Amino acid sequence: MTWSLKKILKLKNNIDLIFHIRLGDGCGTLFWHESWFENRPLIIKEEFRGLKIRKDCAASTVCDIDVGLWASIIRRVPEGRRVLDYLSSIRLSDRTDVHSWVAEEDGKLKSSMVGNAIRERGQIVNWVALVWSSKVIPRHCFILWLAFRGRLSTRDRILAYMDIPDANCVLCSGFAEFIDHLLGGCVFAKSIWNLFTLAMGIVSLSGSWEDIKVAAQVLSKGNKFHANVFKCGFAAIVYHLWAERNARVFGRVRRNVDHVWSDLVFDCGALIRTWRWVPKGEREWVLCREWKVNYDEVTSFKCFKAS
Ligand SMILES: [Zn+2]
Repeated sequence: MTWSLKKILKLKNNIDLIFHIRLGDGCGTLFWHESWFENRPLIIKEEFRGLKIRKDCAASTVCDIDVGLWASIIRRVPEGRRVLDYLSSIRLSDRTDVHSWVAEEDGKLKSSMVGNAIRERGQIVNWVALVWSSKVIPRHCFILWLAFRGRLSTRDRILAYMDIPDANCVLCSGFAEFIDHLLGGCVFAKSIWNLFTLAMGIVSLSGSWEDIKVAAQVLSKGNKFHANVFKCGFAAIVYHLWAERNARVFGRVRRNVDHVWSDLVFDCGALIRTWRWVPKGEREWVLCREWKVNYDEVTSFKCFKAS
């Protein structure tokens, strides 16, 4: 079964969150497969896992069960007895069942509510604000996210499924290439991190990639100018280290530390110039100088009305 089809089939377990069923005569609602009882289809309830349900029983409606069909089978399970008790307590009418959208507002379907109902929620990690910040260049965000997830295709990962002639780091040629080395321990990466700490006016970030990640989460907290410049520069370093590694692997131009640094300063400076409001202050002046941004220009930004 294809990945996309599996994903679509999984959605059926969440669909009850956006539908509401009001029972009438029970003839238009499937007993096992629709969410008429406690907003969940009975067929996916754990309590019914061991129960063998015949095909014709599986296709029965709420009305069929209400008139007594299959009741002896359903009563074998304690949860089944609870469902039957509930069904006898509500008394079906002679009206038709009503299936309506819950995700409606003023008679209109709200796509955001549907989206919230069907999207998968992963674990929220504590580095999310650093990686997915609006103050980071989007293509840098993506590489930084891969780096935090440990998903960059470094040579140690490639070795797990393919023989490659050389598994050493292409930035220093002295050590095996794995993420902690490439972004932390490598002499090339260390030089870039040192330039970054000088430009930011902070204590050294040297150490392992794991240590750098922890320190970065502290230093990037908040929405002040220096924190935003930090986020922007941090992501740019990871992106450019990875870009330089790829350029060397695929035999393109090799840049030295100064060249990589000037390229990432260019990227960050271009983004910082677009920020709508930069406060005036000595620290901001120094940061602007380090990131080649015209301080007077960004601190005197005004909104002009189009005439
Ligand atoms: Zn290296």
